[in-house]
Amino acid sequence: MKVYIATDMEGISGIVHGDQVSPGTAEYADGCAWMVGDVNAAVHGALAAGATEIVVNDSHGSMRNIDPGAIHPKATLISGSPKPLSMMQGIDASFQACILIGYHARAGTEDAILDHTISGSVVRAIRVNGIEMPELGLNAAIAGYYGVPVVLVSGDTAVCRQATEILGKDVVTVAVKEAIGRQAAKLRPLSEAQNLIQAGVKDALNKLVAAKPFKFAAPYRFELDYHISAQADMGAMIPGAKRIGARTLAFTADDYIEGFRSLRAMINIAPAR
Ligand SMILES: [Zn+2]
Repeated sequence: MKVYIATDMEGISGIVHGDQVSPGTAEYADGCAWMVGDVNAAVHGALAAGATEIVVNDSHGSMRNIDPGAIHPKATLISGSPKPLSMMQGIDASFQACILIGYHARAGTEDAILDHTISGSVVRAIRVNGIEMPELGLNAAIAGYYGVPVVLVSGDTAVCRQATEILGKDVVTVAVKEAIGRQAAKLRPLSEAQNLIQAGVKDALNKLVAAKPFKFAAPYRFELDYHISAQADMGAMIPGAKRIGARTLAFTADDYIEGFRSLRAMINIAPAR
């Protein structure tokens, strides 16, 4: 069994503030250590369920947060950025399951640690086929494109709620903290949170037969709301983008991965507000 683990940082056990996920701050090293803790807990759970190959994609910010010397030696680490599939680089049809560790709620969610969607300074909202999506939905559809189901999501209670809404009640969720606003949370003790992740991953992989890949219905209509119109001025230069509002672009793709790439180009070309 091949298991793919994508890890973001805002939803890692212990993390409540942007300084803890940003290089160059006094607290960043602690955040990285906690991230390795949650990831290794997931690796242990996967090994206990019989995984024979595990790939971990570091997918926050620079995507160089995980110390290659600290990750479990049975896992292969994908480090660095940019990558064509970004937070899902390395996934393909050879995997049986996808696990999302350290995830956060979509931009504009109340009581959610560091809520945003892909880029806090650029994106106000992303809709696919009319439904507003957090990163977990956009990325689960990449796994789904390759026929791989997302079987577990960890993060705060808000992202766990959104995971169940989008992926259905069968996805295992592990809430490692409960937010009190955007930058404060009631934390589970780290050891307890990591034990829950390990047990959750083992449990999710043991009942894998019931898991279904997540897919949107084709063709895929993407809508991107920027924060300001100057960002849409730039994004509208990408071929295929239609300006449907001062701050909003829309486009339709027949292939989800192509659509995802266009979306990223429209985000990356826009200046930070
Ligand atoms: Zn992140």
